[in-house]
Amino acid sequence: MTTVAAYAAPAAKAPLERTTIERREVGEFDVQIDIKYAGICRSDIHQAREGWGTAIFPMVPGHEIAGVVTEVGPGVTRFAVGDRVGVGCMVDSCRECDNCRAGLQQYCEKGGPVWTYNAVGKDGEPTYGGYSESVVVDENYVVRVPDGLGLDVAAPLLCAGITTYSPLKHWNAGPGKKVAVVGLGGLGHMGVKIAHALGAEVTVLSQSLRKKDDGLRMGADHYYATSDPKTFEELAGTFDLILNTVSAPLDFDAYLSLLRTDGALVNVGIPEEPVPVLLSSVFGNRRSLSSSGIGGIPETQEMLDFCAEHGLGAEIELISADQINEAYERVLGSDVRYRFVIDTATI
Ligand code: NAP
Ligand code: ZN
Ligand code: ZN
Repeated sequence: MTTVAAYAAPAAKAPLERTTIERREVGEFDVQIDIKYAGICRSDIHQAREGWGTAIFPMVPGHEIAGVVTEVGPGVTRFAVGDRVGVGCMVDSCRECDNCRAGLQQYCEKGGPVWTYNAVGKDGEPTYGGYSESVVVDENYVVRVPDGLGLDVAAPLLCAGITTYSPLKHWNAGPGKKVAVVGLGGLGHMGVKIAHALGAEVTVLSQSLRKKDDGLRMGADHYYATSDPKTFEELAGTFDLILNTVSAPLDFDAYLSLLRTDGALVNVGIPEEPVPVLLSSVFGNRRSLSSSGIGGIPETQEMLDFCAEHGLGAEIELISADQINEAYERVLGSDVRYRFVIDTATI
């Protein structure tokens, strides 16, 4: 075991504080990573505050990890000391079910994958995430950060990037397709960049026009405020795909009305409460209401390569570890441009 410094929530809703945790010894197929940067995802806050139900404490959040390999086990074939790598939301899975074999580890049929934190690993020990100095992960759950991407702007791609890339690809965002992204936060801003790079016509649906210049600069063709009821009249029946990244419940019937025939509203935001929806909002035009969870390991590598090729990094605000609690409050107030990233050297 190695003792490393970390930031942890000692209990639900308690502020995060500096502590130490134990990382396992490097096993045969393990990679030890010196974490350089860790993004703050809204999911970290949902879990640290038990918004999604009972959680495991102390909790070291962080599933947007970018760093450098410092040691590899004797069986490791894909990585070497010095490699620039990333770890996202999963650190293991059963590896045997149909989904794992298809590279869809996030949908592992044996009860889901082993999440990077707020979970128990196959060794029976709790997992701890990226708000820490280093981590030991099986090489099959580690991806390579291409040379063209800085580690700081690459870190958020490990969750925000793949969570938007995967549904955009699955629902065929591309030339000739009208795609709306709801919410211009961590996920949303990557959704805009990726959808634009895929060739789609992109519209941002944000609460206000406050971030309009940024949205257009990131590649949006149109930008509307959802606080203005005229938006819903003007855009009725417009989109092939709406990617909803909002963490709070929305008026789903209103957003479904913006889809054209056969359009899909895909939710990646995960509200803490159930949401009501009228099925008459989908039946009239054969619309779909769906959702998507992160992306598998092979697709995460594909996404990183795509982002490097198109020069797409996250837009970040780099913070020191003692600013984590303040950053959480700012995320909750939709005051993020567009991802907080912790410089883990400050832990
Ligand atoms: P974020 O940075 O806070 O962005 C969410 C954006 O939604 C905000 O910036 C804001 O954009 C809008 N918003 C927030 N509250 C709102 C409200 N009450 N009404 C309307 N709009 C609101 O959060 P994130 O890190 O992108 O995460 C977003 C959600 O996705 C969270 O629920 C998170 O847990 C979930 N998530 C899911 C997956 C997955 O695999 N499916 C992966 C990662 C995260 P505007 O100011 O532009 O309106
Ligand atoms: Zn996340
Ligand atoms: Zn599986």
